[in-house]
Amino acid sequence: MDLELFKKQATEKRDELTAFLQRLDDIVPEDIHTVVDEVNSTVWKDVDCTTCANCCKTMTPIYTQQDVTRIATHLRMSPKAFREKWLVKEEDTGDWVNRNLPCQFLVNNMCTIYEVRPADCAEFPHHDKKPFDLYNDTYIQNVYRCPATFLMVSRLKDRVEAEYEW
Ligand code: SF4
Ligand code: SF4
Repeated sequence: MDLELFKKQATEKRDELTAFLQRLDDIVPEDIHTVVDEVNSTVWKDVDCTTCANCCKTMTPIYTQQDVTRIATHLRMSPKAFREKWLVKEEDTGDWVNRNLPCQFLVNNMCTIYEVRPADCAEFPHHDKKPFDLYNDTYIQNVYRCPATFLMVSRLKDRVEAEYEW
């Protein structure tokens, strides 16, 4: 994955894709989930996360209490020691997030706690969330961060504009 090229392409198309997603907030085609699922399945034929890991390098997951307990147990630490070593509590939201970026568990573009990773990581990039338009703000942020989301939204835009009157 050429992340510099991705950032260049995402910068060029960001406003266009943001406008599309904002319009999708007002006008949601009835079969949007079918279309999204079809588009999304094409994306993963062209994107290999192990050559990217941009999410783990540039964003932090939110750790739930269950995440902390599960991962700390896996690492044979207490939840308190785990938090003190790796996490910080955000002042405005109270969320527990990584103290540092890239994520401390990323090694050679691979997650070293993959089986017990935070639910937030397991669900990223949230392309199968429903209703789709509820996640527009997430996609608007992530078209610039995640090559898979960039591709999904770009292809969705092409498809919706070609097939729907809106
Ligand atoms: S989910 Fe997106 S940002 Fe994360 S590794 Fe895959 S393509 Fe890259
Ligand atoms: S826990 Fe794993 S998947 Fe989640 S950000 Fe860290 S390295 Fe990436």
